[in-house]
Amino acid sequence: MSICVVGHSNPDTDSVTSAIAYAHLLKAQGQDAVACMQSSADKLNPESATVLARFNLSAPEELMDVAGKQVALVDFSDIGQGPANLKDAEVVAIVDHHKIGDVTTNNPIVFNAQPVGCTGTVLNEMYKLAGVAIPKDIAGGMLAAILSDTVNFKSPTCTDADKAAVAELKVVAGVDDTEGLFMDMLKAKSSIAGVSMEDLVFRDYKDFDMNGKKVGCGQLELATLDQVADIREDLYKALETVKADGRHTVLFMLTDVVKEGTDLMVVSDDTALVEGAFAGKLDGNSMWVDGMMSRKKQTVPNMQKAFGC
Ligand code: MN
Ligand code: MN
Repeated sequence: MSICVVGHSNPDTDSVTSAIAYAHLLKAQGQDAVACMQSSADKLNPESATVLARFNLSAPEELMDVAGKQVALVDFSDIGQGPANLKDAEVVAIVDHHKIGDVTTNNPIVFNAQPVGCTGTVLNEMYKLAGVAIPKDIAGGMLAAILSDTVNFKSPTCTDADKAAVAELKVVAGVDDTEGLFMDMLKAKSSIAGVSMEDLVFRDYKDFDMNGKKVGCGQLELATLDQVADIREDLYKALETVKADGRHTVLFMLTDVVKEGTDLMVVSDDTALVEGAFAGKLDGNSMWVDGMMSRKKQTVPNMQKAFGC
């Protein structure tokens, strides 16, 4: 019976490439294993699809029900993030970098969870310990996963071990320009081609009650603001429509992940209040707020303060 190696639901690049990498390692060690994912290949997120294409990797097999099967989990250990009937499967290994979840087993298993930025970093070490060479394409996938999970080393979850793994994997994968690889991934992730204005506004959008006033805030993460240069007016019109539907203010964060700041589009009954919230000045209908990356940790708290919440 093959061991199904599977990452978490709604898979990201780490879950996909770690399933491929760990399945290969198990096979190299004489076990029968197959890379799987909880999604069909055409549902891969755009970033993961780009990574698989770039390194000529096949998408893992779709796996929805694991009852009666042997499974190895990568990038998670919470039952809720696993495939259907995970409780009726035999978990034989877990490789992860999150807090330990609620999966339990009847027998001892391989369990390797480390406080690093990516499962790819843990797997790189496991390959070394096993004395197994990482194939070039798989190394590329693992490299991409580390860059993705650590947001090109900018995430607070990134460790020296992740940086060291990238330095090793880029050589094996034959990738000189990891910045370029990260940018390609970011562009794929933030692609707006063919998306309607309404879908863009609501792709990542939340409404808040601020002292009795309804305030909306959406966010779009971009590799560069140039990506939206041609659609700014249409985007603003869409925001005006959203604002007209009973809201005091609608903010839209055009976040430049590379420059680490946000061009904040503002439609409001009180633009001076919004300017005050971010100590800025609107230039037309938006203003650059340096360092603004997080709606939850930066934008919303500043607005709540300005509204006297
Ligand atoms: Mn993940
Ligand atoms: Mn991960």
